[in-house]
Amino acid sequence: MPQIVYINGRYVPRAAATVRVEDRGYMFGDGVYEAIAVYDGRLVAADRHFQRLGRSLAELRIAWPMPRAALEVVAREIIARNVLRNGGVYIQVTRGVAPRDHKFPKDAAPALLVMAKRFKPAPAALLRDGASVITVPDERWGRCDIKSLNLLPNVLAKQAAAEQGVQEAWLVDESGNVTEGASTSAWIVTAEGVLATRPNGVEILPGVTRAIVVDVVRELGLKLELRAFSRDEAYRAREAFLTSTSNYVLPITRIDGRIVGDGMPGPVTRRLRDAYLAATGRTVA
Ligand code: PLP
Repeated sequence: MPQIVYINGRYVPRAAATVRVEDRGYMFGDGVYEAIAVYDGRLVAADRHFQRLGRSLAELRIAWPMPRAALEVVAREIIARNVLRNGGVYIQVTRGVAPRDHKFPKDAAPALLVMAKRFKPAPAALLRDGASVITVPDERWGRCDIKSLNLLPNVLAKQAAAEQGVQEAWLVDESGNVTEGASTSAWIVTAEGVLATRPNGVEILPGVTRAIVVDVVRELGLKLELRAFSRDEAYRAREAFLTSTSNYVLPITRIDGRIVGDGMPGPVTRRLRDAYLAATGRTVA
């Protein structure tokens, strides 16, 4: 069955979907996106994702391509038409189509793409042994809180990780502090047993998974510090993990080839993965 995508106001087979050459997303990366998990055919944490989309659009002064409620209907229609049980919905909004000129066009309508994505669940071996990350300099711009299409530094960081045979790259700022991963939020359990993750601000994307895990951590009464942590502190951490829509809570057992803690996914990480899955209505796996 061909995949159906929503583009330019129509549901069309993926192979027939086309983008205009002067779409500003294509020309300038002038747009934003969201990726929402789908579990058992329903959107996970939809409210938080649509809220973040609204914020990204507002920060870039791009109008909603349609009312939020209508966009949710399109997202659900994409799930239905693609018979998607588990995976995700990708939503992209660009400033629209206009002759190439850096300034905002006067009368372009925002362009919308919605498509289904099948996520590959994390392989059992990765959950059992933990993921590995490298660290690279954070070379991104000053508004990483906006989920914009400009992902070139993230692409390069992820490619560097892939070339070293690891799953993620942690980005390190000029002070030696970890900001986040190329496409994931970064966490540690310090040597003293305290959870730490960077507070929201312009240096990181406000991760939806991160926010849910922060709530879960508070409900469980675990100690949490919303603060930056350095690469050196991460090397000495008892546990490390990443969070994201497609990875949930994924243990990290190697950073730059150094073993984290005892080299196995730690008890706090495992507990938080289960609690996150339960909090989002999933069967604990
Ligand atoms: N940080 C960055 C740079 C990302 O691109 C992503 C996800 O795409 C995340 C963090 C994790 O965010 P979320 O939990 O909302 O998927």
